[in-house]
Amino acid sequence: MADNRCKLCDILGNIPEDVAPYAEKLYNLMPDNEKAAQDLMKKRFDVCSVCEHRQASTCLKCGCYVEIRILGKANRCPAKKW
Ligand code: SF4
Repeated sequence: MADNRCKLCDILGNIPEDVAPYAEKLYNLMPDNEKAAQDLMKKRFDVCSVCEHRQASTCLKCGCYVEIRILGKANRCPAKKW
């Protein structure tokens, strides 16, 4: 497994190497009331993109893929950056 994989997802073995298509599929399956708005996700992703806690696609603060963590409206940054 690649170093940037979520530990939980590795256990489940269901995350592909390229996270973006998986994140899009997951987003489409989420109930509308749980989805973050597109502009909010973009703002979150921009913050994560320059964060010192991000390594490749993984947030080292929480172990999540940032592409997936940004999807949920109720999700929060563990470093309180968003
Ligand atoms: S979720 Fe927060 S701590 Fe993690 S990479 Fe994004 S901005 Fe950084």
